[in-house]
Amino acid sequence: AAKRDKEPFTVYTHEDDIERRQQLRLAQDLPEAVASNQLVLHYQPIVRIDDQEVIGVEALVRWQHPKHGLLFPDSFIPLAEGSGSIEALTEWVLQDAISQASLWRAAGDRISVSVNISALILHNPAFPQMVARLLETTSFPAHLLKLEITESAIISDVNRATEIVTQLHDMGVCLSIDDFGTGYTSLAYLRKLPVDEIKIDKSFVMNMSHVADDEVIVRTLLDLAKNLGLSVVAEGVEDAETWRMLEDLGCDVAQGYFMSRPIDVEAFKDWIVTQPW
Ligand code: C2E
Ligand code: CA
Ligand code: CA
Ligand code: CA
Repeated sequence: AAKRDKEPFTVYTHEDDIERRQQLRLAQDLPEAVASNQLVLHYQPIVRIDDQEVIGVEALVRWQHPKHGLLFPDSFIPLAEGSGSIEALTEWVLQDAISQASLWRAAGDRISVSVNISALILHNPAFPQMVARLLETTSFPAHLLKLEITESAIISDVNRATEIVTQLHDMGVCLSIDDFGTGYTSLAYLRKLPVDEIKIDKSFVMNMSHVADDEVIVRTLLDLAKNLGLSVVAEGVEDAETWRMLEDLGCDVAQGYFMSRPIDVEAFKDWIVTQPW
């Protein structure tokens, strides 16, 4: 075994082979999963720090697989991207999230709903029209829809992405840069793009209460965003200490397990009335 550890090339094992076949089968199951409502959205509250008001939710997709149980997005979003299902999946997610947010709105809650958008989608010129159609059929206000995009999505084709992001912005939709701080030198693009918000990546926020370097990074990203006139969400807030530090640093908004994990609609209904703060 010691010898194999030093092997510089990848050693394919029987297990790798099984793994690959499972992935292939999952990818093949995806169109059916989208069409037959096996996907489900969980919602995680997004909370304003100064008055602890819930101002939005992030929709996070799960796959209730008939054989494998509840699957998390990291195990199937890449497959959806690689197999051409990501368009249909994204349309389903947007449709479901907007319908749900419309119900909350009808009940008097004015909360925004954030949806994650893959890089691939951001290069599809038909995407803004699809969003426009959904907003029109539901009469959902565009400014309460936030699309979360990553820096890498923008960098892979700046011109195309800028054009699509600009169209969405002109429709009144909010744009948010997700996982901020983990991408490459996107600072120059930040000024050119009509972006409203950044989300500081959880990898920095999670440990900022006990890793000094991470606190410095969060502080720096906050300053940068403030100076550019952007609002800031800190994601990955896991404890009261981190919440307090963010409050001291003047961060607007927080999201994380400290407030709630992503939960289904039923659980969210209970959570919002018994909100622990
Ligand atoms: P993300 O957009 O960065 O979403 C945040 C992830 O961090 C979620 O994982 C959430 O459950 C988790 N999280 C939230 N608060 C905390 C915390 O306090 N601590 C820690 N350690 N983690 C926290 P999840 O739901 O497994 O989603 C993983 C990723 O899958 C998302 O990362 C997003 O990139 C992608 N994703 C989810 N839903 C969709 C979707 O509908 N479409 C696309 N294209 N991607 C999606
Ligand atoms: Ca996100
Ligand atoms: Ca992240
Ligand atoms: Ca994120």
